[in-house]
Amino acid sequence: MTSSEPRGAMPAYGLFIDNAFTPAASGRTFEVENPATAATIATAAHGDAEDVARAVAAAERSVWGRMPGAERARILTRAADILAERMDDFVAAEVAQTGRPIREMKAQLARTPEWYAYFGALARTHEGRVHPFGGSYLNYSHRRPLGVVGALTPWNHPLLILTKKVAPALAAGNTMVVKPSEIAPLTPLMLGEVLAEAGLPAGAYNVVTGFGPDAGAAVVNHPSIAKIDLTGGTPTGRKVAAIAGERLIPMSAELGGKASVVVFADMVEAGTAGALFASFVAAGQTCVQGARLLVERSVYDEVVETLGRRARAIRVGDPTDPATEMGPLVSARQRETAERYVAIGREEGGRVVAGGARPGGEAFARGYYYTPTVLADVASGARVAQEEIFGPVVCCLPFEDEADAIRLANDTPFGLAASVWSREVSRAHRVAHAIDAGIVWVNDHHRIDPSSPWGGFAASGLGKENGIACYESYTKVQSVVVNLSPEPFDWFEGEAEG
Ligand code: NAD
Repeated sequence: MTSSEPRGAMPAYGLFIDNAFTPAASGRTFEVENPATAATIATAAHGDAEDVARAVAAAERSVWGRMPGAERARILTRAADILAERMDDFVAAEVAQTGRPIREMKAQLARTPEWYAYFGALARTHEGRVHPFGGSYLNYSHRRPLGVVGALTPWNHPLLILTKKVAPALAAGNTMVVKPSEIAPLTPLMLGEVLAEAGLPAGAYNVVTGFGPDAGAAVVNHPSIAKIDLTGGTPTGRKVAAIAGERLIPMSAELGGKASVVVFADMVEAGTAGALFASFVAAGQTCVQGARLLVERSVYDEVVETLGRRARAIRVGDPTDPATEMGPLVSARQRETAERYVAIGREEGGRVVAGGARPGGEAFARGYYYTPTVLADVASGARVAQEEIFGPVVCCLPFEDEADAIRLANDTPFGLAASVWSREVSRAHRVAHAIDAGIVWVNDHHRIDPSSPWGGFAASGLGKENGIACYESYTKVQSVVVNLSPEPFDWFEGEAEG
């Protein structure tokens, strides 16, 4: 691993500014922990406003935005190839900083190069427009980069979520200052090396590691930041949006969720397996987690019983073991949150069908492990069924008919995602259209692609990641109106005297 100042066996990462690692101006550092062992695995520079100012200055100086789209495409495509070659290092770092099982991280990270290839291709092919202005006028519009984009990213999918921002922002010719989560800053720093090696000019991609209230807030408040792109919790989204609003800069916000998994009686087996996947991958620490399992009444008991049995069989353990299916939660705090909500769920009348405790035994003594938890018979309005837990806890509720399923799927303040499980094609589409969520899967969950719009409604955020609209959201449209007439245009008739 690359670091600015190695101390013994422990890597010590600097900030990444102007394609080089550098200590924070204050000289301060913070520790990065492995949640499976609670051991410190690295230190990172504790950046603040002075470092953010340095990173923004580097981003403003960078030549990246003046390079032709074809050249940007070439560099991003090369970055995709280098990232693919380094995949094992990235997977190991993600497992170490998040506790996510190696099985999951291999599958997830294997997709990340596709974003650089997809958005690189858009940098090469995206076209301007000619408008039917009429008369002797030629009116065209073209897209220009916004300038320096500030990205604030979370810890749950550190490289994937960052990639969803970096690939389109750079492809469109912007430069970036990234403030990754203090819990998982390693892969965002490692990405800097990949991009530099691919030929990204100095200053185009900068990373200031640190904490939300100082480094993050400094990014949001810096007068040269032209757009804020946040993935994080809804409370953070509200705080940051207030500042972006005051500054009149665009913001995209991928925020919290409470996704429903809607299983109809004609899809019991696949629906139950799908619910297990939706609820417990990433130990439930994902914005689109299937947190509310809605099951048609006639098969409710059967589905809940099978889900509980299969949840108890999930192999929880050491995330570096390829056989492990669920690792620890990311932090002591995250586990306390899950425990608190399970206690609330019990008080609210929920029946614990599986889990609801820390796993016992020496192997789990130090990490932040928690068992996959199924809570049945929860009321839709209960706190445990309404608030984002961000842990391995799913609430099960029966529904009577299609209208009831739709009502329950829409009965939260969030609008990020849902899945519908049914063999009946017309019903599946009908329900998908009636659910007020930005992403609805039919007979699947969690699937993502760089071409497929991603983003929530209501308390789940603003804007879209992925796809052409995302590329365009990193640009500003300039309309150029050209008068082609040979006749002079003279509106005022009088002549000046003398
Ligand atoms: P968080 O809101 O605590 O932090 C996100 C980022 O914002 C971090 O880098 C953090 O340091 C920074 N930050 C926090 N407060 C800030 C402030 N006042 N000013 C500027 N920056 C600030 O979120 P988290 O705990 O890292 O991630 C989990 C949350 O992210 C969950 O709510 C989850 O649903 C959400 N999430 C959403 C999506 C999506 O696509 N919609 C994807 C993943 C995670």
